[in-house]
Amino acid sequence: MARKKQARRKPATDSRDKKADAEVLDLASAADLLKVSKPTFYRWLAQDKIKGFKAGGQWRFYKHDLEAFLRAEEPSALHIDADALRAAVTKARKSKGLKPIEWPEAETAEESTVIGTVHTLITDAIEARASDIHFDNNVDEMLVRYRIDGVLNEVMSLPRDVALPLVSRLKLMGDMDIAERRLPQNGRIIVDHKGLGYDLRVTTVPAVFGESAISRILDQSSILIGLEKLGMSESTRKQFESILHAPNGLVIVTGPAGSGRTTTLYSSLNLINSPKKKVCTIEDPVEYRLRNVMQVHVNRKAGLTSPAAMRTFMRSDPDIVMVGDLRDLETAEGCVSAAMTGHLVLTAMLPLDAPSVVTRLIDMGLEPFLVSASLNAVLAQRLIRRVCAKCQERYEPSPDGLRRLQAETDLHITQAEFYRGKGCRECRNTGYRGRIGAFELLEVDDSIRERIARPANTAELQAAAVEAGMTTLLKDGVEKAMQGITTIEEVMRVLSYHPKEDADDQK
Ligand SMILES: [Zn+2]
Repeated sequence: MARKKQARRKPATDSRDKKADAEVLDLASAADLLKVSKPTFYRWLAQDKIKGFKAGGQWRFYKHDLEAFLRAEEPSALHIDADALRAAVTKARKSKGLKPIEWPEAETAEESTVIGTVHTLITDAIEARASDIHFDNNVDEMLVRYRIDGVLNEVMSLPRDVALPLVSRLKLMGDMDIAERRLPQNGRIIVDHKGLGYDLRVTTVPAVFGESAISRILDQSSILIGLEKLGMSESTRKQFESILHAPNGLVIVTGPAGSGRTTTLYSSLNLINSPKKKVCTIEDPVEYRLRNVMQVHVNRKAGLTSPAAMRTFMRSDPDIVMVGDLRDLETAEGCVSAAMTGHLVLTAMLPLDAPSVVTRLIDMGLEPFLVSASLNAVLAQRLIRRVCAKCQERYEPSPDGLRRLQAETDLHITQAEFYRGKGCRECRNTGYRGRIGAFELLEVDDSIRERIARPANTAELQAAAVEAGMTTLLKDGVEKAMQGITTIEEVMRVLSYHPKEDADDQK
């Protein structure tokens, strides 16, 4: 009986059977999925663009049909007001003194507008030396911002209805799934601009007002490899170079994300790398290719984690190992054990200053005596913006700020001459152009080693390091302001979070 029934049903409803488990949406949810208004949705239904069926007098839609529709349609086929978008882009670029866009050839004006807008946002970002492009949805607009020299700048506000086609265009370029809008996705876009290749890492994030996208721009040509180019004072650089020439031990570069740690690690490797040494790195991602270095990309899905790569490296007889990121106990143990068995290990961590790295390693679960025995040095760093060379002028910073910094750094800063940028086209009216590192180098000598083994707390380590001659991040920043390289305000913005400040206030 059952068999007969099945045989009878089969020819007519094969496709329906396959869809038996499929998700069915009502009209409101379907329109929402496509991010269009109900009238537009009805129009597409009438034009047979969308397949649906009636159940109990109500329209119903298979979700995978709608997703197939999204995949098949060029994003720009979705409803947008091409003229309004062109006007918004043109106006925003004109206000920055940029030339009008030549819109690309495409089948429809909408398509041309979407492709042209995304292209121009990417190339303008590259020209502006941006490190990231942010596409964020608000209630009534899509806001586009560039991160330049570490600070977000608003670039343009676009009509809200272009958000979907713009993000879809990015997804298409980044080889991502256009129909998937509920989960974050990652993609990669390679862009050629003026003969140079740029590597864009795109991440889409489902947010309450619709999908946002962030694109990181990796620009190999902008990574200035070379310790002498980072902005270290002569004495700090010489001290750091001699630390890097040790045959073994652990050297840690620390600072928050975007503080230039990677560039310092590459520059360090570049200094000590030679054909006589075997150098291995494990990175996430590999941002810069180095000669004669075995570079490995972390691949968690495939099980290639930092600890797994470390174990493999140890069997391949390296002299120098660089681990892009030390953030768990297993990796920390691997680094310490390699450092104690005759290898020089370079790695990066997130604490904001050098003494805190010691405390962090012990908090992670490492034995204090192991940290004490293996650690050679910690270099903490930050990037601060440089005064624009085109529009710099002398100025008098606020006396209150100066007095405070003088008390904190023991520098005679009230007598110094200070410079700032007036603002010009070259610096997009910010007064700053480019960045330079501020550094704090904690070299582990016998007195520090003894304190780590005890273990002493961060404040005691800090005091002992300063006693031994360490220049703190804040002091290094203030010295750069006194040389006219940056401003006092920039130093305070980036560096005056210092816990020591709170302690002083309480006295
Ligand atoms: Zn300027």
